[in-house]
Amino acid sequence: MRYVIIGNGPAGVSAIEAIRKVDMEGEIVNINGEPYRPYSKPLLPFIIGGTIKYEDVFFRPPDFYDTYGVKPILGEPVIEIDVDRKLVVLASGRRVAYDKLLIATGGKPREPKIKGLDLEGIYYLTSLVYVEKIMKILPRVKHALILGGGPLGLKAALSLAHHSGIEVSVLVSSPHVMSQVLDAESASLLERKLVESGVKLMTRTSVVEFRGNGFVKKAILDNGDELPADLVIIGKGVTPALDFIDRRKIRANVGIIVDGYMQTSVPDVYAAGDVAESYDILTGGSNTVAVWPRASEQGHYAGLNMAGFRKEYIGAHRMNSLDFEGVSCIVMGDVKTVKEGYKVIVERDIKRNIYQRIILENGRIRGAAIIGRTVNVGGLNRLLRRRIDVENIKSSLLEDKATFIY
Ligand SMILES: Cc1cc2nc3c(=O)[nH]c(=O)nc-3n(C[C@H](O)[C@H](O)[C@H](O)COP(=O)(O)OP(=O)(O)OC[C@H]3O[C@@H](n4cnc5c(N)ncnc54)[C@H](O)[C@@H]3O)c2cc1C
Repeated sequence: MRYVIIGNGPAGVSAIEAIRKVDMEGEIVNINGEPYRPYSKPLLPFIIGGTIKYEDVFFRPPDFYDTYGVKPILGEPVIEIDVDRKLVVLASGRRVAYDKLLIATGGKPREPKIKGLDLEGIYYLTSLVYVEKIMKILPRVKHALILGGGPLGLKAALSLAHHSGIEVSVLVSSPHVMSQVLDAESASLLERKLVESGVKLMTRTSVVEFRGNGFVKKAILDNGDELPADLVIIGKGVTPALDFIDRRKIRANVGIIVDGYMQTSVPDVYAAGDVAESYDILTGGSNTVAVWPRASEQGHYAGLNMAGFRKEYIGAHRMNSLDFEGVSCIVMGDVKTVKEGYKVIVERDIKRNIYQRIILENGRIRGAAIIGRTVNVGGLNRLLRRRIDVENIKSSLLEDKATFIY
């Protein structure tokens, strides 16, 4: 049996570890387009901020592949999958045959349509490759511009704000930060923290063009103003990295569609992590959610099922967590949509940077935003995930000492 895993993020790595729980004999090949052993993307901003060292970004030790009896092929992207011949084609022309295949290629950065985007000094924060480039120019950066008010953009801004000589501006086209998951009031706490950290925030503002001479020098805004910029980080989120699949064979919507066993529409081909579109327990539909715990969990289920241990994945819901220089922000489910009949529970202590909001639909938690606290988060998440009726305990959901037996 030959297992081929494309991608060595948390989904790929968890799959390898799960396969070895069931099958110690099968051959495992791990292909990765980037030349590194498994590293943690959530830690990338901290390298830029200088709060962790480059070598601490790797989440498995150097002997990981040997320990798990895996043959790595690093630095060679997959460009095609031939599902009829059960072959993976690499950019070098090399072909790798598989019996069971896992696509765990994660996400690629969303690219805005802006003139001058190809200038040097304009990077994303989605790969160690970009971080190496950013670190090289960082000592001479004076004006950093971040595009995007989502988690990626804000993490980039806060990390750069650690460097006293750099003026950091965040440009957000929406009316407030984290607009995809937070309402305006909860977002205002994060905006305040951002400004306190020395970051200049500009909402309802977009860039129409970057100008420079090989290297970026300035940004032209949609109101005609110009901003100096010698480093630009685009933090507009990610979209599944699946350009190499044939959609006529492997079914995909936004991401690659998988069933409860993480299998795609093609037998023996599985997908997991940011690239996969799986069952959403809140909406009953399917979606992609780019978060680490979900990728790792899905990789685990994929690995078990690939190795013949049938175990069904019950699905997931949206969840995001962010640390704003000591103020945590945890968002689960949907906290933005409020329809007739929904109940909204809000508790706030703005002076202490605390804001909590829970949305109930038919007595069940549909979403929660917990800012400035972490108490009860695990319990609320379990209540939401298991769709437990909380009507009778709703008044105590946000209490400090609330305990949930679920
Ligand atoms: C800056 C940043 C901060 C983040 N912070 C958080 C956080 O605080 N909390 C959280 O939960 N999540 C966070 N995330 C998201 C989290 O990192 C991802 O959800 C997670 O890494 C997804 O895991 P994955 O295994 O699906 O894919 P990835 O970790 O993206 O790994 C996929 C791998 O596949 C490789 N690959 C892609 N295409 C090909 C190809 N064609 N051929 C071969 N290899 C290929 C890539 O090189 C990559 O190494 C953050 C992400 C970023 C970028």
